[in-house]
Amino acid sequence: MSQHPSHDPSCIFCRISAGEIPAQKVYEDEHMVAFRDIRPRAPLHILLIPRQHIPSMAELRPEHAALVGHLLVKAGDLVRAEGYTDGFRTVANTGRVGCQEVYHLHFHVLAADAPLGVPPTFEL
Ligand code: AMP
Ligand code: ZN
Repeated sequence: MSQHPSHDPSCIFCRISAGEIPAQKVYEDEHMVAFRDIRPRAPLHILLIPRQHIPSMAELRPEHAALVGHLLVKAGDLVRAEGYTDGFRTVANTGRVGCQEVYHLHFHVLAADAPLGVPPTFEL
């Protein structure tokens, strides 16, 4: 897969998008990649990223609306394709206060056969 024009060689998710480091990808197209979180906190735990390097939700601008919509529309399809039919959780940690670790926009999508519950700190 060729690099997106905004490729940041120091960004781990840009490098996953470009195929430079391995990931368990479950879906990809010209705009986005979905892959399994390396430290899953639920039976299904995938990350949805745009190929474009956008550091976080805090940097989203109106011109990103279609891209973000595309990512979110895909979430339900991917969860269903993995065999989960009774809901899921979507989380986007943003910035220092949001305890974001990787500064390339991503949505966590988690699913299970039973309710995930609400952890006290909601830490992902
Ligand atoms: P956060 O930025 O806090 O929303 O979390 C970043 C997430 O990326 C964590 O859940 C990590 O387990 C996950 N992660 C970090 N490196 C990788 C990787 N190489 N492959 C898959 N997931 C990763
Ligand atoms: Zn990046």
